[in-house]
Amino acid sequence: MKVTVLGTGAIGYPLAFCNCENCQQARIRKGKSIRKCASILINDDLLIDLGPDVQTSMTMYGKDMGNLKYLLQTHIHADHFEPALLCTRLPHQIEKKLQKLHIYAHPWCLKYMNAQIQELEQVDLMSQEGANQLNVAIHDIKAGDVVTFANYKVKAIETDHDLEHGSLLYVIHQQDKNLFYATDTPELSENALKQLENIKMNVIIMDHTFGDVDYSYSHLNEKLFLEQIDKLKKIHCIDENTKIFATHISHEGMKYHEAIEQRAILHGYHIAFDGMELEL
Ligand SMILES: [Zn+2]
Ligand SMILES: [Zn+2]
Ligand SMILES: [Zn+2]
Repeated sequence: MKVTVLGTGAIGYPLAFCNCENCQQARIRKGKSIRKCASILINDDLLIDLGPDVQTSMTMYGKDMGNLKYLLQTHIHADHFEPALLCTRLPHQIEKKLQKLHIYAHPWCLKYMNAQIQELEQVDLMSQEGANQLNVAIHDIKAGDVVTFANYKVKAIETDHDLEHGSLLYVIHQQDKNLFYATDTPELSENALKQLENIKMNVIIMDHTFGDVDYSYSHLNEKLFLEQIDKLKKIHCIDENTKIFATHISHEGMKYHEAIEQRAILHGYHIAFDGMELEL
């Protein structure tokens, strides 16, 4: 399994209109401190989150949106789903027809994705006619469900990140390798831990929105990130060979890349950066 990290920011880093010390440093240093909205590509055909920066990052890293066959959507927040990008699949926008895109998401997330598509282009994603127009197939997936397609096996994991609109984390299994993509999320729930138990992860990419601060909202800060690693060790998801990365980085308590990477290494993990490639 090949993973290309397309974006590692919480709605982008530096934050658009922020002039704090961390955002200023990122503007000066550039490089790995510039972060697009969080999203990853698996091999060349499976995307997690069609966020607003995906078209830019795919092109930057030599990837072709036309090769995408599967989309796993974690949730509906604007830094993870950009309806206008999906609408470029409509026949009046496209000159050469693309292959079908299979979309997997929580049923409520699908409902809100549909509402946004309808508002933009008056296309009903959930109807056969609308799905045909967009050349997509829609699939419900709920926490605990396992779906298989091509040679992937995907397990959806519960998260309390957005209980109103439906949100999920995903374990991707392919050829004896497991990847846990765990953003956006607060502390892992009891159900989530049950769903994850004994799945030995090769790579974990997890929410680390905040750094050394005493708040976390519906995300993780440094203290909670470390606590989740401990929980995952106890349920045999993490052993000494598991590579752990932080993503969804915000400017709140998270400095420029090299500084937070140095601090992360002391705790046994790494900070992901845009364009990072992993081979599992
Ligand atoms: Zn987010
Ligand atoms: Zn800032
Ligand atoms: Zn979110």
